[in-house]
Amino acid sequence: MSAADWSAIRADFPILGRTVHDKPLVYLDSANTAQKPQAVIDAVDDFYRNHNANVSRAVHQLGSEATEAYEGARRAIARFVNVHPNDLVLTSGTTQAINLVAYSFALPRLQPGDVILATRMEHHANLVPWQLVAERCGATVVPVEITPDGEIDLPALKAQLAGPVKILALTHVSNVLGTVNPVAEICALARKAGIATVVDGSQAVPHMPVDIPSLGCDFYAFTGHKICGPTGTGALWARREHLQAMPPFFGGGEMIREVRFDKTTFNDPPHKFEAGTPNIAGFVGLGAAVEYLSAIGMAHIAEREQTLLAYATERLRAVDGLRIIGQARHKAAVISFLIEGAHGHDLATLLDLEGVAVRSGHHCAHPLMQFYGVPATCRASFAFYNTEAEVDALIAAIAKVRRMLG
Ligand code: PMP
Repeated sequence: MSAADWSAIRADFPILGRTVHDKPLVYLDSANTAQKPQAVIDAVDDFYRNHNANVSRAVHQLGSEATEAYEGARRAIARFVNVHPNDLVLTSGTTQAINLVAYSFALPRLQPGDVILATRMEHHANLVPWQLVAERCGATVVPVEITPDGEIDLPALKAQLAGPVKILALTHVSNVLGTVNPVAEICALARKAGIATVVDGSQAVPHMPVDIPSLGCDFYAFTGHKICGPTGTGALWARREHLQAMPPFFGGGEMIREVRFDKTTFNDPPHKFEAGTPNIAGFVGLGAAVEYLSAIGMAHIAEREQTLLAYATERLRAVDGLRIIGQARHKAAVISFLIEGAHGHDLATLLDLEGVAVRSGHHCAHPLMQFYGVPATCRASFAFYNTEAEVDALIAAIAKVRRMLG
């Protein structure tokens, strides 16, 4: 795609035209949450203006339009990751999705002495739920270690899979390092060993085409707001046999077939796991988001972001005293860095005064910070709507901040 095409795509995002502290906004925090194109804003607006009603409850016209909009969004999201819509539970995000797996799938199966493996680079969302269920059933959570470059230590992992392991929690892409993990290879090894795999796709789905069946995992979770959809949306894909076997996690309306005081029977998956009124407008927006991304093409997006990543890496590497954390061979467009003599938080605050939005902190990955021996990093994360000029603005802002800090 041409530079003109990307420039037209950027113009689809109204917020990118605003200023911050009288400077043009340079938004380099898409790994935290992505910006929303007009098509998504319009879809949410249209839903509330013209179709708003609850789903699956009313026979009136608006009720059936709302239900169709919600189920249509489920079909679009399922198509986006190449799965059957009945195997896709709509959740409030990755966090809810993984908690559902932890409590509904894992907890009833785990015994004292069982091991849950979680990689050193997991976001807390794919670690803390495992610690909570492990505590309840006497299992232990053991880290899968990484190399200094920020890749999974595959030989060590292979040895670990031979132990009493029941679950492997694995991120597809690290939100801090950008590392793209060899998920298909690892899931194949785990499957051979009879271990269920729970893949956190939060940072993969925004950056590359994701074909869930080809990964061979048991569970795949992702979040809608990182793929240009509204906050409070996400999804869990699971193998059908798991969804059928798993008991519901939340009880309430919508998830039942018949309720009696002596016995309640449940709806089929995925509805069995969707108690209560869902975030209907949010999913309508997410449906519009995945259609928007598909129209551009995730392969084009991946290519564009790799160009930006290569350019930003080269320019950041040339900055004196700047250290990039994570040098994996296969990376998505996320760069964590530290600058000698500058605390990450001060740096991010000063960059903000230049209009540049980056995230500083532990990025919900304490064990990874412990591995690198740092309390925090600064993270610049890129999306297809960013530009080389914004990379230049980041570099110029860093130079100015360093002069200020002496
Ligand atoms: N996993 C990863 C890798 C993430 O980057 C995030 C979001 N920062 C999450 C999980 C949690 O997503 P959510 O807060 O939308 O549930």
